Amino acid sequence: MDKMNDLQTDSSIFSSLLLDWYGCSGRDLPWRKTRDPYKIWLSEVMLQQTTVAAVSAYYKRFLVRFPTVESLAAAPLEDVIDLWAGLGYYSRARNLYAAAKMVVEQFDGVFPEDAEALQQLPGVGRSTAGAVSALAFDRHAPILDGNVRRVLCRLFALQEPPRSAKAEKQLWCWSEKITPVENVHDFTQAIMDLGAMVCLPRKPLCDECPLVELCQANALGLEKELPLKQVAKQTPTRYDVALMIDHGDRYLVRRRNVDGFLGGLWEFPTISISAEDDSEQKSRQLLGHLNLEGSGKYVGCIQHVYSHFRLKSEIYYKQIENLFLISEEENVWFSLDELQNIALHGAHKKVLAKFQKERSLNVFTPDFDQDR
Ligand code: SF4
Repeated sequence: MDKMNDLQTDSSIFSSLLLDWYGCSGRDLPWRKTRDPYKIWLSEVMLQQTTVAAVSAYYKRFLVRFPTVESLAAAPLEDVIDLWAGLGYYSRARNLYAAAKMVVEQFDGVFPEDAEALQQLPGVGRSTAGAVSALAFDRHAPILDGNVRRVLCRLFALQEPPRSAKAEKQLWCWSEKITPVENVHDFTQAIMDLGAMVCLPRKPLCDECPLVELCQANALGLEKELPLKQVAKQTPTRYDVALMIDHGDRYLVRRRNVDGFLGGLWEFPTISISAEDDSEQKSRQLLGHLNLEGSGKYVGCIQHVYSHFRLKSEIYYKQIENLFLISEEENVWFSLDELQNIALHGAHKKVLAKFQKERSLNVFTPDFDQDR
């Protein structure tokens, strides 16, 4: 405990131990070779809820297509969403685009240096703002991403659910306290690396940790129990029917309105239903909206969990011969290979996977006689 008291009065102990370790063991990542705030901001947004391994290729591809904030702001939103395809959490792509426009139109293309000012940008919360301010401008700005949150919960043996309001306040206070005034750039990368490489979620590698002598969780034998588990929220369930319309092995999709939920993403034709509805009858109704008669073949059901509800989707398949029956202008047809590479929203990625699995079992055969 004496060591912890030292830490609380002299954060330089913490940072010097961490920086020594970082000098030998820090990661070499593509976005660490730059101090360009645009590139750092891009990497930080991509890294929200996504692993380093998944982000690296997207980061490089994005910079080839949009090398500057001006080029990103000038592109159509649909291009940005399509390039984001596969990275998930598409609200990040929409916010990225809106933030690029704000930087160009309101800040003359220059990113603010101050973490508070950076938080004006859509999709930039306090931790992302802190990371950009620290990594691009070496400003004293604390962060609290998932890795740092875990390290601090253990280091100070926090006995609160880590997302509670009380914990949030305490964790920010600690993060502020341990962030040094100098060497903020390296310190910020070092604490992120410690969480990613040593203070691992399930099995922290305390024997390799430069902070083991300072760690309260380790001293108490609680390193695997902390952070405390968050109690799962109850979420309501919604239901829909999704249709796979097959014309010559190409499938009908539409892009969702860019201003709404899952805006700009692709999906198969869909109709909302209630828990009591007959999904087969609703699939006929949906076919009717598409100027088609008859019914589809039942494929199966998938579930997808969003932050505020759970979706159960019943999938039907219909093969058609005559394209002219479907008259809407916004219809687009993709092959199964192409569907793998477009920005389908998460639930319909599962619809596609379910369909392909069932199809591989030869459940579906040409059946044009159901066409009108
Ligand atoms: S000693 Fe173990 S639990 Fe504590 S910070 Fe280091 S790795 Fe995490």
